[in-house]
Amino acid sequence: MTAKFNPNLVGMDRQELEQLALRHGQPVYRGRQIYTALYARGARRLDEITELPRSFREALAERHLLTYPQVKGRIASRDGSVRYLLELQDGAAIETVFMPERHRATLCLSSQVGCAVNCRFCFTALLGLERNLTAGEIVGQALGVIAHERLRQEFRLNVVLMGMGEPLLNLAQVMKAVRLLADPEGTGIPLRRITVSTAGIAPKILEFGRQPVRPKLAISLNASTDEQRTALMPINRKYPLRQLLAACRAYPLRPRERLTFEYVMMEGVNDSDDDAARVGELLAGLRAKVNLIPYNGGPGLAYRPPSLSRVLAFQQILTRRNIPAFIRISRGQDIMAACGQLSLARAGQEAERDSGATFPGRASLAESQ
Ligand code: SAH
Repeated sequence: MTAKFNPNLVGMDRQELEQLALRHGQPVYRGRQIYTALYARGARRLDEITELPRSFREALAERHLLTYPQVKGRIASRDGSVRYLLELQDGAAIETVFMPERHRATLCLSSQVGCAVNCRFCFTALLGLERNLTAGEIVGQALGVIAHERLRQEFRLNVVLMGMGEPLLNLAQVMKAVRLLADPEGTGIPLRRITVSTAGIAPKILEFGRQPVRPKLAISLNASTDEQRTALMPINRKYPLRQLLAACRAYPLRPRERLTFEYVMMEGVNDSDDDAARVGELLAGLRAKVNLIPYNGGPGLAYRPPSLSRVLAFQQILTRRNIPAFIRISRGQDIMAACGQLSLARAGQEAERDSGATFPGRASLAESQ
């Protein structure tokens, strides 16, 4: 049985809201008022949008919802990052991670429930793909966390689509969400602070490059040869390195823009000096930088992170070849909120219930709604 829900206003763009207003016999500008209230002001309920006539609000309430993904759990890491466990209207569970720093924060959003790409080192892969998220569910993650953390509009927020899922396999909804988040009259997060990360869906990289409103792009490279990459990321069989890098070379970078290549380092797998040299060759001539991410482990996967000296040696080989390389130590590792670890939300909650302990390890359930 599929439950029917009233459509959510969150996720509708300006044009859709204007048309909605017209259908209700209202002037077009009423649609724009709803738009600003939803995305710029973060209105949580229809009756907060007091600039609308009460009769219109009541008529809207009969057929529409104004709702965000529901916060089912909020797990705080010792390093300050917070993992939100969210439930969608159909009961599906997703996660969003909030990573505050001193004067700014990064928000890591999910684009799908689970993921179909099946990277061997990633925990989300263990879930398989349940479904795509709607634009409203993607924007709703951001608006929900902004409200929960009581962030002010002027607060400097970076958004990365690096949570659960492969954003380029849900491109239309991801782009709609990005347009709502980036619109200065919407949530107003500058495009240069929004990054979409892909496992390397080559044709979609080209399609992404043609988007008129386009955030930054990161590509998960993770290997230096086809053989190695196919073993780690089966998607490489379909889009091998040559095709992936051709798409990257054809990508229309803007002035001063660089492509980011993520490279998850696994001990004895892809972390040798030869690997670093080959990555240097693959990226030669591209305007690119590399983020080196020591592997985050957890139950069920056998890889290990390299030693820090190995990571430093790898970094040095790249920088010597004039490829800027940065070491990214993932945050939230103690709460399984780090890169690739977003999965098993429900398993986590169950573990917590069963043992009376928090999940996992030293995490503390700071608050739940
Ligand atoms: N599907 C997209 C976005 C989600 S993954 C993508 O593949 O880019 C976000 C990043 O986390 C990717 O760079 C991925 O390679 C990395 N990652 C996945 N599992 C990881 C793990 N166990 N440890 C460290 N990084 C991981």
